[in-house]
Amino acid sequence: MLLSLKEIRTLSKEVLEQSDIEYFQDKYGKRFVRAMRAVEEGKVRKYHFSPSRVIRWTVVGRSKEYLVIPEVFCSCRDFYQSVVIQRNSKMCYHLLAQKIGEIRGQFTVLNMTDADRRRLYHVWRKVS
Ligand SMILES: [Zn+2]
Repeated sequence: MLLSLKEIRTLSKEVLEQSDIEYFQDKYGKRFVRAMRAVEEGKVRKYHFSPSRVIRWTVVGRSKEYLVIPEVFCSCRDFYQSVVIQRNSKMCYHLLAQKIGEIRGQFTVLNMTDADRRRLYHVWRKVS
């Protein structure tokens, strides 16, 4: 798991205390700050596709929208470079933002068709 149970419990509190924020900043650095900002700006999206009932998460970044498979994958460059190649981090800020958004119930739900999904996959797969 990306986050410990204790961290999940802390993040599910309605209001984070200064000490909570400091803990996450110490541990996750700038990625935590950026992730919280993305969550607060409503950039975490949960797509519900029908009729397949497939669910996909994305996080809208500065220049494009990234496909996030919770705990596992993000389509951004930082994930590829820092997590896959250099292995100096467990996640990019989008993965963290998806997690925080899901825990706090702060995400935008979009209902779409499977035809939309094929079109969106094509966009999400493009390397920025
Ligand atoms: Zn990412």
